[in-house]
Amino acid sequence: MSTIRAELLVIGSGAGGAVTAALAAEAGRDVLIVEEGPWATPGDVEPFSMAEMMSRYRNHGLTAALGNPGISYAEGRCVGGSTEINSGLYRRLPEELRSVWASAYRIDEFDAPTLDKAAEEVESFLDITHLPGDPPPASAAIARGADALGWRSTEFARAFSYESDGHATKQTMARTYVPRAIAAGARLLADTRIDRLVVRDGRCRAATGIRTADGTNEKIRIEADDVFVCAGAVHTPFLLQRSGFRGGIGSGLRFHPTIKVAARFTIPMDHGDVPMHRVMEFGPHLTIGGSASRRAHVALALADAALPYDDALADWDNVAVYYAAIKGGNGRVVSLPGIGSPIVFYSMGDADMSRLARGTIHLGSTLFAAGATELYPSIVGGPILKDPDRLVDWWDAISRSRANVMTVHLTSTVRMGENTDLACADSFGRLHGTENIRVNDASLLPDAPGVNPQAAIMMLATRNIRAFLN
Ligand SMILES: Cc1cc2nc3c(=O)[nH]c(=O)nc-3n(C[C@H](O)[C@H](O)[C@H](O)COP(=O)(O)OP(=O)(O)OC[C@H]3O[C@@H](n4cnc5c(N)ncnc54)[C@H](O)[C@@H]3O)c2cc1C
Repeated sequence: MSTIRAELLVIGSGAGGAVTAALAAEAGRDVLIVEEGPWATPGDVEPFSMAEMMSRYRNHGLTAALGNPGISYAEGRCVGGSTEINSGLYRRLPEELRSVWASAYRIDEFDAPTLDKAAEEVESFLDITHLPGDPPPASAAIARGADALGWRSTEFARAFSYESDGHATKQTMARTYVPRAIAAGARLLADTRIDRLVVRDGRCRAATGIRTADGTNEKIRIEADDVFVCAGAVHTPFLLQRSGFRGGIGSGLRFHPTIKVAARFTIPMDHGDVPMHRVMEFGPHLTIGGSASRRAHVALALADAALPYDDALADWDNVAVYYAAIKGGNGRVVSLPGIGSPIVFYSMGDADMSRLARGTIHLGSTLFAAGATELYPSIVGGPILKDPDRLVDWWDAISRSRANVMTVHLTSTVRMGENTDLACADSFGRLHGTENIRVNDASLLPDAPGVNPQAAIMMLATRNIRAFLN
């Protein structure tokens, strides 16, 4: 076993970990970033392709939460974490959630000016941009449908930089904060998984794990003064539970449960990007937007209805995939002895199922209003619809046994605040009852943010590491 020493250990290199490492290294700290996944050169595979799933997704994208309905979910597993595979949509935390969280969880220094300052710091480094020209067809359809119905819609900004020829590059962590950390002297150990924190008297004495780079299987031990666990909302509580922490850690998991609909139009849709427009009329509890729509995504979404789809697949150029996502349900992450992976449970109440059904029907209305001629919902047995008057048929069809529910937004397993009845970490992410163990990722959000979470995670990570360094 080799032993490595660092002043500050950051476990995980995604939205939370990369920010933590960069700002600490720039403040002169001796930082070691440990990342379970490999270094995957940004741009060397097509975004949203099968090759991307094979090289950058945990379990190649096949992970599911147990429950009724079961919910499939996705996480990144590479340097940069889920930011390498996401759509880069960037939206600040809604103010109404900030104020509710601040009082319910008693979070210190969680006022709007403090959070705005941290968000501005992120935005002064990442390029947060809108489209330089007209939206592509799949995105424009959302705005057109919403307009026709008199509903509010907006184009979300993205963490994308544009070159003068219009070429856009997503600002993933492997392109931005991770290089910034390394330039400031941080060390990066990829292909290295931390399995346990050795904790005595409230202090982490060491972190132990396995390094698998270059076909090796080497045990490692890392001794650090301070540890930041940034392994994401599933793997952060899993690691903490394996290290002996219980008492609420892993409970409170929140998803944005999502149902997809493949929509066939009479004009070609674009397939290389994810639509930037969102229907905001029902936010933050219900969002309507667009998904990745490469040929494989279109085929999967059409097949989800489990009814004949050859005709629509032959016309796939005119098909794009959309979704309705809600804030709802409640889950937990559990570590069981002898099982090397987390077990994730998620339950949705009848009210959540109704909201999902209502959202899917609103999505259908938007798509028909935008000119769609045929809708394939992710509901086993459909019905596939050609007529807006039949949308009500989806109401009963969205049942626990027939709905194919998924999510890519996972939060809230180590919630923050001084209210120890609800929160496992303090207002800046330090685990209650410990001296030197902090969490700084999606796990800290007290609830699902109702919008894409990366902006809120990076804002919080900035605020917390700045407070620590001060
Ligand atoms: C397909 C997809 C699309 C998305 N689209 C958007 C979007 O457009 N906009 C948006 O705001 N959000 C989006 N998200 C969500 C967003 O990417 C995540 O919320 C965010 O990246 C979470 O940040 P994090 O730091 O908590 O975790 P991650 O970014 O997931 O990083 C965690 C890292 O920790 C590593 N790790 C885990 N366990 C260990 C261990 N034991 N030892 C060492 N390393 C470990 C993982 O390999 C991973 O790299 C999307 C997510 C997915 C999957």
